[in-house]
Amino acid sequence: MSELEKVFKKSYKCPICDSNFKNLTVKQGKARMVDTDIDLKVNYNDIEPLKYDIIMCPVCGYAALERYFDRVSVFQRKNIIDKICQSFNSVFEEKDEYTYDDAIIRYKFAFLTSQVKMSKNSEFGYLCLKMGWLYRSYAASLDEKEEAKKEELYKQELFYLDKALNYFINARANEQSPICGMDELTFDTLLASLCVKLNKTEDAKKFMNIILSNRNATKRIKEKVRDLKEILEENVEEGEN
Ligand SMILES: [Zn+2]
Repeated sequence: MSELEKVFKKSYKCPICDSNFKNLTVKQGKARMVDTDIDLKVNYNDIEPLKYDIIMCPVCGYAALERYFDRVSVFQRKNIIDKICQSFNSVFEEKDEYTYDDAIIRYKFAFLTSQVKMSKNSEFGYLCLKMGWLYRSYAASLDEKEEAKKEELYKQELFYLDKALNYFINARANEQSPICGMDELTFDTLLASLCVKLNKTEDAKKFMNIILSNRNATKRIKEKVRDLKEILEENVEEGEN
């Protein structure tokens, strides 16, 4: 089944300019999971759903992850109109599927929206995490011959994952659980995983200890921590050689 058959045009109403518009979104149950990366990124067969995670109004440029799309205060709305909509030139044509480059533009508009909204650290973190993962999938979709481009995308991936980690650490200190819809243990596991992925050994150990001392930690989560520890040790050994 092609990507084209797994997405459809869904209708939305913009909370900023009140326009009705359509965006592509993944049909429920059509993305089949293949496996999960160290940092909990889920991979799917024949489609990267992350490309379809941003809802963007083609009329005014307002963009956000679905979870945050309708959450706009009167004050934020006014700022978005002043700082985004008034200078936004709609250049978006209707598409049957989004390319990685389309998706990156959509994420950048969502990032801009979050800046103007003065969103919480968790919202920035979630955007950066998804952007980092998007760059990873983009690189994986390219041919071996495109090594220079892959290298550039990898740098972007690490840049955004590092930003995500910093935002999440701030969110953990200042926001109430659940953060981004994750309970405390899942969120701490994500942080530990990101630290391992980014080779931040001390921070990784700190979060692993927090997880292991949480009396609610399930067997499955403890196993995940054990896996992360192994990867971390391998990374340290490689670094020493
Ligand atoms: Zn709009």
